[in-house]
Amino acid sequence: MYAKIYTLEDSYKYKGQRKRLVESLQSKGITDERVIQAMLSVPRHFFFPEAFWSKAYDDAAFPIEGGQTISQPFTVAFQTQLLALKPGARVLEIGTGSGYQAAVLSAMGAEVYSIERVEELFRSAAEKLKECGYPVNVFLGDGTVGLPSKGPFDGIIVTAAAPDLAEHLKVQLKTGGRLVLPVGDQSFQKMVLIERLVDNKYRRTEHGDFKFVPLIGKYGWTN
Ligand code: SAH
Repeated sequence: MYAKIYTLEDSYKYKGQRKRLVESLQSKGITDERVIQAMLSVPRHFFFPEAFWSKAYDDAAFPIEGGQTISQPFTVAFQTQLLALKPGARVLEIGTGSGYQAAVLSAMGAEVYSIERVEELFRSAAEKLKECGYPVNVFLGDGTVGLPSKGPFDGIIVTAAAPDLAEHLKVQLKTGGRLVLPVGDQSFQKMVLIERLVDNKYRRTEHGDFKFVPLIGKYGWTN
């Protein structure tokens, strides 16, 4: 029995496709230079099943194991831009999925904690992040309760559709911290930003419509 060996091939072809993808994200309103640099550097194809690497630089969501999806690049860029992270920020991601969003946060110099509830995704994302050299702390479990033992966080990003979890997660933010989560029913959601201004003062704003797979757990959906 041989261990599975990935050949991390980041060719000029993929670099060129990535550059075109990032230019299209800029034309759709992504302006944060640190987000742009991170998305230029992370090999998104590596977080795809190998048979579909040719699809990795389309601006589209894509199915991964366990009936889940790797988020659309525009959505990754948009949520990351809303987080407005400073270098060295401590960030919690809820819904590791493929690991791609976590890699982008790590490439920006954040200290990343990420939780996934599906074991096969947790294993594969942890392996790929390690292989690519992104030091992300990946956990298996129900992220709807947050990760109080590793908080408080400068940023929290939820990458699955939540019934309103904000009340529950916002207390795990530092003062000045930002929580970005899609809130709605299972067919579409509003992107919500909660900023912790001072100790018990928060500001809530909405940033357009999105569609995510459901967040399932104690404070999420039941299925
Ligand atoms: N950020 C991911 C997107 C994955 S889709 C990426 O870049 O690929 C959303 C993920 O949230 C799925 O993998 C799903 O299994 C996971 N998820 C759903 N409910 C969850 C919960 N309660 N805790 C942790 N992960 C959850």
